[in-house]
Amino acid sequence: KSFDDLNLRDELIRGLATMNFRKPSKIQERALPLLLKNPPQNLIGQSQSGTGKTAAFVLNMLSRVDLNNKAPQCLVLAPTRELAKQIAGVATIMGTFLLEKGLRIAEAIPQSVPRGAQLEGQVVVGTPGTTMDMIKRRQLDVRAMKVLTLDEADNMLDMQGMGDQCKRVKNLLPKTIQVVLFSATFPPKVLEFADFFAPHANQITL
Ligand code: AMP
Repeated sequence: KSFDDLNLRDELIRGLATMNFRKPSKIQERALPLLLKNPPQNLIGQSQSGTGKTAAFVLNMLSRVDLNNKAPQCLVLAPTRELAKQIAGVATIMGTFLLEKGLRIAEAIPQSVPRGAQLEGQVVVGTPGTTMDMIKRRQLDVRAMKVLTLDEADNMLDMQGMGDQCKRVKNLLPKTIQVVLFSATFPPKVLEFADFFAPHANQITL
């Protein structure tokens, strides 16, 4: 199996090459064909960090982003600012050759934009509370959102109030949105959470 079989846009093939990703990891091999299908389908994936899940969901978003539109189109929710920044970093490197075509990656974390200013970027990576606040204050325009990715869902649920913040964000997004959810573990409360976000999802376990 190779990345060349996935019909990825040329800029992403070149991005993967500069990152030295020669062939898809196991999770990428299983998730990417499902993620990239059209019409878009929801996906719930069980996967630990270190497996390459970040690249899988970043490739999905960067494949779907319309660079002729400056509006935010893809949102990632992550449990910590550090993880949000890390994911934004992966998207920036993977999307190197899309940056020159107008791609912008933004972070919805505390103090990332001045009060009252708009968060600009087609791909937004944030923590749930700040993302929710930015949507409510109209700093983050969600009308063109088409992909919602939840990373480390189990860790988000372990933090007081964060599960509810995620649900509130989801309720503010357009109804037809592709949901991609990754979690390392799936105890009943995570299953219930996943079902709220991604009903009828394809499921993969490693
Ligand atoms: P993640 O599970 O997303 O945190 O990624 C784990 C590590 O694997 C990161 O350091 C990635 O850069 C690396 N990685 C992800 N996919 C590949 C790949 N297809 N080939 C080589 N390294 C990869």
